[in-house]
Amino acid sequence: MNIDTIKNGYVIDHITSGNAMKIYELLELGKLDCQVAIITNAKSKKSGTKDIIKVGELINLDMDKLAYIDSNITINVVKNDKIIEKKKLTLPEKLVNVCMCNNPRCITSTEKELDQVFILTDKERNIYRCIYCETKLNKN
Ligand SMILES: [Zn+2]
Repeated sequence: MNIDTIKNGYVIDHITSGNAMKIYELLELGKLDCQVAIITNAKSKKSGTKDIIKVGELINLDMDKLAYIDSNITINVVKNDKIIEKKKLTLPEKLVNVCMCNNPRCITSTEKELDQVFILTDKERNIYRCIYCETKLNKN
């Protein structure tokens, strides 16, 4: 793949430097058949450096997971060599099976069939809490 152009797919732009690999892992981009390019520490006018991910196919992107990792991301949708849409992300109200509760006494650690659900309780500070035990989600 030419790093600069893709015919159809996504250019995931303005990723905070260092977050590209997290996105790659959480969205399981390594399992895709299409080409994926990760550019780290690209020069950015706004914030010094940024990461960029290019996906060479219009796959079903999980916007909730992306927003959870980094809500400043811009997603450029490319069709026939043209950017047809720029999507901004918003923090999802609810995260379902995106991450696990790290409270060892949470019911989800014994009842494995339960969904892992977190609710956005503080938009300003980007805080999610487990719906079962109210433990604050620790992103790292
Ligand atoms: Zn919990």
